[in-house]
Amino acid sequence: MPCKFCTSNPVITLTNNKINLCKSCFIKYFEKKAMRTIRDHSLLDKGDHVVVAISGGKDSLSVLYVLNKIAERKRDMKLTALLIDEGIKGYRNSSIKDAKNFCKEYKIKLHIASYKDNLDKTLDELKKQFPETIACSMCGVFRRYLLNKKSRELKADKLATGHNLDDEAQSIIMNQLRHNISLSARLGPTTGVRKDPKFIPRIKPFYFLTEKEVATYAFLKNFISEFNECTYCAESHRFEIRDMLNNLEAKHPGSKHSIVASFMEMLPLLKERFKNQEIGSCKICKEPASSKICNACTLTQKIK
Ligand code: SF4
Ligand SMILES: [Zn+2]
Ligand SMILES: [Zn+2]
Repeated sequence: MPCKFCTSNPVITLTNNKINLCKSCFIKYFEKKAMRTIRDHSLLDKGDHVVVAISGGKDSLSVLYVLNKIAERKRDMKLTALLIDEGIKGYRNSSIKDAKNFCKEYKIKLHIASYKDNLDKTLDELKKQFPETIACSMCGVFRRYLLNKKSRELKADKLATGHNLDDEAQSIIMNQLRHNISLSARLGPTTGVRKDPKFIPRIKPFYFLTEKEVATYAFLKNFISEFNECTYCAESHRFEIRDMLNNLEAKHPGSKHSIVASFMEMLPLLKERFKNQEIGSCKICKEPASSKICNACTLTQKIK
């Protein structure tokens, strides 16, 4: 079946509605969908300084590219890239190279914050120290901590991430399975339950785009030199859920879209339910925390 719009050879079949698209129609569709998410969910405001969290992978370089396209048109919007280097041998080096080349080509200022400089240990060293602990559980805590702290130091108004529809469907299911509904209240195209000066609001322009669509876009645009996955990825709970959802999607196309669409209908109720949840400051580092000591400081104490 040729492209639905121009009869050229297709490069992708959109899973949700079985539409075939050629390269140029797919790129238009992709960028239009990201722009619509930004507009419909008010992700950007006039004069915003947007810090984009990048890993050098397909999702984050694609979101940086799309936001840079907007910044080139909107002269009052400032864009900065922020890369967190966890210190994972054999994985991070090539993606850091891709990120540096990308930012150089598009003249985007890049900041790099590493676990080693900020927490004294690389993730590889932490994993050696705590072989029984799942790497992602330590990594996630420190990454969230550093992204918020560093983007606030950079005076960001928004922190943009490359999260896509698959990531969100995984998070929704993970929170359900762990009975962690208050965490689900913080999900959505823009995160958080209410405004807090300590938290830099996160925005997800690819919220309604699938992993397959983002990967195809990055590939067609030549953003990454090679695809590699984190060494620790396979041990995470998210990896298991990702596999489960991919199997489900193969049998019942549209399942991931339905999970996210149903969640979006419930999200206003969740935000209302948790709007008075206390956010305090960590006694040690003063960063936002829901208990007396934040998760990052609790882990740091354990390391020492
Ligand atoms: S897969 Fe886990 S360990 Fe690897 S970068 Fe992601 S969160 Fe960190
Ligand atoms: Zn076409
Ligand atoms: Zn702390």
